[in-house]
Amino acid sequence: MALKNFFNKIKDEITQKEKAAEQSQKIEQKSHWIKCPECNSMMFFQEVENLHHVCPKCNFHMRIGAAKRIDLIADEDSFEEFDKDLHPTDPLEFVDSKSYQKRLEEALHKTGKTSSIVAGECKIDGIAVQLVVFDFAFMGGSLGSVEGEKIVRACNRAIEKNQGVIIVSASGGARMQESTFSLMQMAKTSAALKKLSNANLPFISILTDPTFGGVSASFAFLGDIIMAEPGALIGFAGARVIKQTIGADLPEGFQKAEFLLDHGSIDMVVPRNSMKQTLHDLLKMFYKDQAA
Ligand SMILES: [Zn+2]
Repeated sequence: MALKNFFNKIKDEITQKEKAAEQSQKIEQKSHWIKCPECNSMMFFQEVENLHHVCPKCNFHMRIGAAKRIDLIADEDSFEEFDKDLHPTDPLEFVDSKSYQKRLEEALHKTGKTSSIVAGECKIDGIAVQLVVFDFAFMGGSLGSVEGEKIVRACNRAIEKNQGVIIVSASGGARMQESTFSLMQMAKTSAALKKLSNANLPFISILTDPTFGGVSASFAFLGDIIMAEPGALIGFAGARVIKQTIGADLPEGFQKAEFLLDHGSIDMVVPRNSMKQTLHDLLKMFYKDQAA
């Protein structure tokens, strides 16, 4: 209850802060240089922004937040968010180096959100679809009970409205602070996607950097089509842990999107600038199949 009061109390404050921060960021960033984390080239922020945060020198796909991702995929002003006010509880009263409640409060202050997922409905070149997008900035995009519930509700809306589902993952995996409640979301989301499949509706899974743990071990790899962004790191455990466990060097490019494509784990690697067109073409193909 204390957590609920907290969320209600600062919701308005956060909205104001978010708007002010966005405004000042826009003004600041336009005149700023940024450095590509991959090739170290210095570039104008605006230039990189215009290229959807893809480096023009080396094609490195930088991480982007949920809002930018939605702008990239959805038709202008077509996105309608659902379940925005769902917020996590802390049934285990979990404490590690700090309490879960404290971590949630910090994540809320940082992102203005109560969960690592933004879920809603949008149109992609005129085709209506349920779109679920992870935001890595909120507790590493971790999957907790709220995130699982939002995915299930998106699937239910899709079945009700005869639409497809797209999930854009960017996650370190299950949220350890929710323990079994978090792990249960793997089965819960998988069951919802099975219902979607039974209704003959498509699920397109987009894996972005990074997609790991309980997310890749459940819904992210259940797509009718599984696509990834170039260079995205995708796996279950991290390379360092695997290397230590098996005591051997790992092949070059291990866990990168292109490596997974070469080894048949995913269907396609799609550059950010052709993501929307590819999604539109796939949805059109699925719906045509359905009509036939
Ligand atoms: Zn670069």
